[in-house]
Amino acid sequence: MQEKVKYLIVGQGLVGTWMAYYLQEKGIPFKIINNTQLPSASSVASGVINPVTGRRMVQTWMIETVLPFVVDAYNQFQEKAGVAIIKKAPVALIHPSLQMKESFDYRLAHENVYLLKSDTPNWKSFFITPFGTGEIGSCYWIDLVQFLKTGREKIKDHYLEATFEMEDLKLNSNGVEWKNLNAEKIIFCDGVQAMENPFFKALPFAPNKGEALIVDIPGLPNKNIYKNNVSIVPWKENLFWVGASFEWKYENANPTNSFKEKMISSLDSILTIPYKIVDHIVGIRPANTERRPFVGLHPTYPQIGICNGMGTKGCSLAPYFTLELINHIEMATAINKEANVERFKHLLA
Ligand SMILES: Cc1cc2nc3c(=O)[nH]c(=O)nc-3n(C[C@H](O)[C@H](O)[C@H](O)COP(=O)(O)OP(=O)(O)OC[C@H]3O[C@@H](n4cnc5c(N)ncnc54)[C@H](O)[C@@H]3O)c2cc1C
Repeated sequence: MQEKVKYLIVGQGLVGTWMAYYLQEKGIPFKIINNTQLPSASSVASGVINPVTGRRMVQTWMIETVLPFVVDAYNQFQEKAGVAIIKKAPVALIHPSLQMKESFDYRLAHENVYLLKSDTPNWKSFFITPFGTGEIGSCYWIDLVQFLKTGREKIKDHYLEATFEMEDLKLNSNGVEWKNLNAEKIIFCDGVQAMENPFFKALPFAPNKGEALIVDIPGLPNKNIYKNNVSIVPWKENLFWVGASFEWKYENANPTNSFKEKMISSLDSILTIPYKIVDHIVGIRPANTERRPFVGLHPTYPQIGICNGMGTKGCSLAPYFTLELINHIEMATAINKEANVERFKHLLA
């Protein structure tokens, strides 16, 4: 028997979960197809929202608009689900070099509202800090493992554990058909797998491999995110997420010994307390050459949409741009020009 919904969503990572959340909130019928055995960047990400980016410590793109919006979104999600999802966690900077210290001091004095001095931090005794310390305020940690799990439970009546196979998709004048499902729109939230999607593979994807270690560090306070050349992010109890690599060129998505050795060397050079590695995880970031998301409807097939390309910023961009896409479809509101796939009309047509 055919089932009719308004939206078919492919993928339940950060993006698909937020799409589903907003559709459910708005009472719009949908079905979400996801295969938990396929790679998912969201399931290995550290979950940090940081308003400051890169070695020059500049403010992240759109952060003034996006930050208050997403903090509110995660808080509402957490309140409705009754589980802890978002935690304020300032980034404790352990300057890795004199140059980075100077870069921080410069930004602190010039037009950056997020950097703070940290004169007497209570975490200092756990680290070697030859170049001093600093702090980034307004940072948050999202428990992504919990978020994806709770998100799936919340939409269980709309969730289909399956692989979406493109050859089963049929387009018609009212929308799309996939197996026994009829929908007005299909929205691809399928992360790096979108690179094989015939409708969107022409977009300038530039996937990026990231490795991280899960490390037991007994005694280290878990109220902060720590950042040196590596990030040390609270994970669970004594466990910390340590990483990550950032590789544009890679042979496969396997963990590497060279990364592990690099992390060990970094941890040995800054930590004053013992630690033990318990896991080594890998993911591929759905990044792109422009470092801007891909959001919108296909210029030739308006029944097909995409919300992707979140790169290193999925936690902050996903809630904001999924709602923007839904509002665009439902109420004809505009999509941010820098994110709208309309800008690649020439490639997609
Ligand atoms: C090591 C690492 C650290 C990171 N740290 C951070 C961080 O601290 N903060 C931050 O904001 N971002 C971080 N990111 C980036 C973040 O993970 C991504 O931006 C985000 O997860 C992308 O979400 P997504 O939903 O687009 O893709 P994904 O999470 O990859 O989800 C895609 C989903 O689609 C499903 N799927 C795909 N194809 C099919 C199909 N054919 N059939 C069924 N299901 C399908 C997959 O199973 C998956 O569940 C990190 C990434 C990595 C790799």
